[in-house]
Amino acid sequence: MTHIYQLNQLRFSYASKQVLALDELQLEEGKTTALIGANGSGKSTLLNLLAFLESPTQGEIFFKGQSVSRRDLIEYRRRVGFLAQKPFMLAGTVYDNIELGLKIQGKRQRAPKIAKVLKQLDISYCADSQAKLLSGGEQQKVALARSLVLAPEVLLLDEPFSYLDQSSVQALEAFLQNYAQATGHTLIFSTHDRLQGFALADEVIALAEGKQVLTPLINLFHGQIIDHVFISGALQIILTEATDNARHASINPEDIVLSTEALKSSIRNHFQGRVVMIAEEMGRVRVNIDTGVIFQVLITYQALAELNIKLGDRLWVNFKSNSVVLF
Ligand code: ADP
Ligand code: MG
Repeated sequence: MTHIYQLNQLRFSYASKQVLALDELQLEEGKTTALIGANGSGKSTLLNLLAFLESPTQGEIFFKGQSVSRRDLIEYRRRVGFLAQKPFMLAGTVYDNIELGLKIQGKRQRAPKIAKVLKQLDISYCADSQAKLLSGGEQQKVALARSLVLAPEVLLLDEPFSYLDQSSVQALEAFLQNYAQATGHTLIFSTHDRLQGFALADEVIALAEGKQVLTPLINLFHGQIIDHVFISGALQIILTEATDNARHASINPEDIVLSTEALKSSIRNHFQGRVVMIAEEMGRVRVNIDTGVIFQVLITYQALAELNIKLGDRLWVNFKSNSVVLF
């Protein structure tokens, strides 16, 4: 496995406030990595560093094995495609916006490349429109097209779904899911929809308050441990080991087993609830169960059919103590 980025003892501060502290992190080449985390967890800051728009306050970034110094930033910046959280349109048409990068790179035969990305992102209809007059979602697609047309080794997308309507979200999800495999290039995107990140990417990096946490941050509960039990409001989760001062517990949505009866055996946590949502999630099924708190579960279509799950059904959420990640 090759790493496209290697981060060592990376720190980033705004003024005196440290917002990112990553001791060691590798990102895989030719794969899709999702950065997930709540607002303010440091996703955009990390993407800005990976896009070489900023330099770390401390620590080092290696790109393809080369240490990147502050004076190399501009050169490295050209090697990555970056879609900012709030895309900025240049004056002129959509076509002009997409063509500019190719012109700067001195590329010929630009029209077929532009036609291809316009089609891929389903924005051919507005090629001749003034880019600044488009809706937020359309601008986000144009900004993505502007990056894509340059076929960068690394494509960095900061919350690419934020302005899109539901059908565009689904189209972009399908496109991104195939992107790394189809192009052999690296894709790194951020999302605050944790399950979406988890479903789309080969690797997930979860951030909380600027630090990496080794959990998908789905089914995340805040509370305290008393006597081998994690207590969060009315929810009580039985643990195997007492990790002294953890304040958060998270359960991987793939480690949860759904059943019509409470499962005995070695599974120690059982909660009964009602099915409140069933949705398609990139080849799997996302089922939300309201047990007083909502549990998000990812199951296969086969499991959905076997359990004959319908909205409103009463089901049991079951998971082992050692599926609980504490931090
Ligand atoms: P995310 O993208 O996950 O929402 P950000 O990387 O934007 O998180 O922000 C991480 C932290 O850095 C937040 O606490 C945010 O308030 C702070 N921050 C972001 N941009 C700036 C800035 N330009 N100046 C000062 N603080 C900032
Ligand atoms: Mg952000």
